[in-house]
Amino acid sequence: KTGLLAGKRGLVLGVANNRSIAWGIAKSAHQHGAQLAFTYQGEALKKRVEPLARELDAAVVGHCDVTDPASIDAAFEATGRHFPEGIDFVIHCIAFSDKDELTGRYIETSEANFSKSLLISCYSFTAVAQRAEKLMRNGGSLLTLTYYGAEKWMPHYNVMGVAKAALEASVRYLAADLGPQKIRVNAISAGPIKTLAASGIGDFRYILKWNEYNAPLRRTVTIDEVGETAAYLISDMSRGMTGEILHVDAGYHVVGMKNPEAPDL
Ligand code: NAD
Repeated sequence: KTGLLAGKRGLVLGVANNRSIAWGIAKSAHQHGAQLAFTYQGEALKKRVEPLARELDAAVVGHCDVTDPASIDAAFEATGRHFPEGIDFVIHCIAFSDKDELTGRYIETSEANFSKSLLISCYSFTAVAQRAEKLMRNGGSLLTLTYYGAEKWMPHYNVMGVAKAALEASVRYLAADLGPQKIRVNAISAGPIKTLAASGIGDFRYILKWNEYNAPLRRTVTIDEVGETAAYLISDMSRGMTGEILHVDAGYHVVGMKNPEAPDL
C-alpha cells in the first residue's frame, strides 16, 4: 500500500467479475490509496459487483448501460452525491460486439452491429467524458482500454478493431478539448487477457498462445499489471502525459515477425 493516489476519488465503469481488467485497475487504485465508486450493467452483474466493491470499501453508485444516456446521467449524478468534493479520475473498461461477428471476415459486418459496437465501445467514452468534465473541479484523468487490433489486422477482431481505432482517435481529440482544464485523457493498449469479453472472440486461446510465444517477454500480461500502469496514469506521476496510448502487452507491439524459436501452433 502506498500513498500514490491518496486523496484521489474516482469512478470505475466495467467491472463484470474478478477477471475484469476494470477489477485489476480498481485493486491497484485502492492499494495506492484511492477512494472508488463502481457502476454495474444490469441486475445480473449487480450481484457480482457488490461483494467486489465491499472488498475495496468502494461505493456502488448504480446501474449504467451506456446505450441508455439517462442511465449514464443517473450514474454520474449518484457519483456527484457520493463524492461532493468532485472526482479525480474515471476508468472506462467497456466494449461490446455481437459474438457472431467476432469471427470470420470483417467485410460481413452488419450495419446494426457496426453501429452498436461503435456506440458501446467508442462513443461511450466521449459520453462519459462529457459527464466527468463537470465533476472534475481540479483537473483529472480519464482512462480507457484499447487493443493492438486498432493498429494492425488481427484475426476475428473485425469491427472491434475499427471501434478501437476510433476510440484511440477520440483519446487524442478529448485530450485536446480537456487539456486546458488540466484533464488528461489516455489509454492502455493491453495484451490479450482471458476475460468474459475476450471469450467472445474467435480462437482466443490461439491468440493467447501466439502472444506467449512471440512477445519479447515470452508471456502474456495480467490484470494486475494493467492495474499498476493504470495507477501510474491516474496519478500525478504521469502529470506531463495526455493523449497517450501506452502498451501493456509484454512488448508484443514491437514484433514484426514470428519468433523462429516458437513452437508451431
Ligand atoms: P469484461 O467482460 O470483464 O468487461 C467488459 C465490460 O463491458 C463488462 O463489465 C460489461 O458490463 C461492460 N459493458 C458491455 N456493454 C456495456 C454497456 N452497454 N453498458 C455498460 N457496460 C457495458 O472484459 P475486459 O476484457 O475486462 O474488458 C474491458 C476493456 O478492456 C474493454 O474495452 C476491452 O475491449 C478491453 N481490452 C481487453 C483485452 C483482453 O484481452 N481482455 C485486451 C485489450 C483491451
